[in-house]
Amino acid sequence: MSKPVVAIVGRPNVGKSTLFNALAGEMISIVKDTPGVTRDRIYADVSWLDREFTLIDTGGIEPDSKDIILAQMREQAQIAIDTADVIIFITDVRQGLVDSDSKVADMLRRSGKPVVLVVNKVDSFNKFMPDVYEFYNLGIGDPVPVSASSRLGLGDMLDAVAAYFPEGSGEEEEDDRPRIAIVGKPNVGKSSIINKLLGENRVIVSDIAGTTRDAIDTDIVHNGKEYIFIDTAGLRRKNKIKEELERYSIIRTVTAVERADVVLMVIDAEEGVTEQDAKIAGIAHERGKGIIIVVNKWDAIEKNDKTTREYESKIRQVLSYLSYAEVMFVSAKTGQRLTKLYDVIDMVIENQTLRVATGVLNEIMTEAVAMQQPPSDKGKRLKLYYITQVSVKPPTFVIFVNDKELMHFSYTRYLENKIREAFGFRGTSLKFFIRERK
Ligand code: GDP
Ligand code: GDP
Repeated sequence: MSKPVVAIVGRPNVGKSTLFNALAGEMISIVKDTPGVTRDRIYADVSWLDREFTLIDTGGIEPDSKDIILAQMREQAQIAIDTADVIIFITDVRQGLVDSDSKVADMLRRSGKPVVLVVNKVDSFNKFMPDVYEFYNLGIGDPVPVSASSRLGLGDMLDAVAAYFPEGSGEEEEDDRPRIAIVGKPNVGKSSIINKLLGENRVIVSDIAGTTRDAIDTDIVHNGKEYIFIDTAGLRRKNKIKEELERYSIIRTVTAVERADVVLMVIDAEEGVTEQDAKIAGIAHERGKGIIIVVNKWDAIEKNDKTTREYESKIRQVLSYLSYAEVMFVSAKTGQRLTKLYDVIDMVIENQTLRVATGVLNEIMTEAVAMQQPPSDKGKRLKLYYITQVSVKPPTFVIFVNDKELMHFSYTRYLENKIREAFGFRGTSLKFFIRERK
């Protein structure tokens, strides 16, 4: 269920953040119990009519010198070309058409990516429309006039964007080859893992229809089965500003994770879990993907019989919201346990698509309620009527109750544990929706 990715590109001060915020609005996804995630609003989940997409703001720290504005914009445009399905190229009617706009427009046009040209700050159509026509000169299609700050024209703009979405995206994909994103900080060994897996298996050329993203997709056949690995290691940009680099690495991670069924979260055994690891893991968690924590460079660790257990419990302590994740200790250098990865990937995908019959779910819930009384407030007790699984990837359940307010987070967690006791669901998060039945 991969959602299209839409990236916003444009010069400083044209209104990228304003547009981003207007579109993201209340719908921005913030998972409250995931530390370190989305504090900086780089990406957001947006719905427009019945379509959902991931919106990305490629703009980061604004350059203070004119010379580097163009370099910076090219960098942003490249990120958008590499990762997005549709690019919103935003310009400013008040500043008019400037030279760097034309240069970036050329670059976008050559990429062949769908581009929606947006002219911002058209606060009054009567007054500014004549100036909008100038933007036809960019040669990337009809300019769409908007006012991000007064939320004018955004509907027409989103229609133009959604027209480019691939047919059927957001629905079940026909391609049933497992997609595995390899994410993690630089130097943890992502490329080494891919190379080692490649070395032992036949490579076949990717046949996914022509996007530049293919460059980072690797198809590997193992035991007669095809797997697609999505690598984020491509991030080797020379960038002086550390924050910028981190922003781009988050964008890469979000778009790779979005397209994946299972995420291999690679950690360097010698370093342990760092703050940046936690941030990256949080992205996979909040997106409901299957997660395998891969502790690489295990060869470099001095071990005794307790090392593995101690290391695992330390990881689980730091990444406590990922209690369902599998943890594996591997070495890309020696190849230790790497082929076992496939079994774990298969298992996680199976769990992501597991469906539990409603009858069985309700038996479990009835038993759970009998063992631990549901919470009450001001004399009113929570009643649980019915539970049913509504979808997979991740497995998603709806619980019907008498009063939503009474359904405490910890009681949902208790039910989740009971369901996991019965069915495992290892490697995948579970989602719960609470509905009131009147
Ligand atoms: P960014 O650098 O591209 O992210 O631009 P910002 O979103 O920070 O906006 C730059 C400036 O333009 C801010 O002062 C905004 O308030 C202003 N701005 C953004 N959108 C509009 C608009 O639609 N109309 C007008 N008049 N000003 C806008
Ligand atoms: P990436 O940036 O995450 O793709 O990391 P690389 O695959 O480029 O690896 C970074 C460094 O770690 C390289 O010097 C590798 O040789 C080293 N490395 C990768 N995997 C292992 C491993 O399993 N054991 C050891 N000792 N070194 C490793």
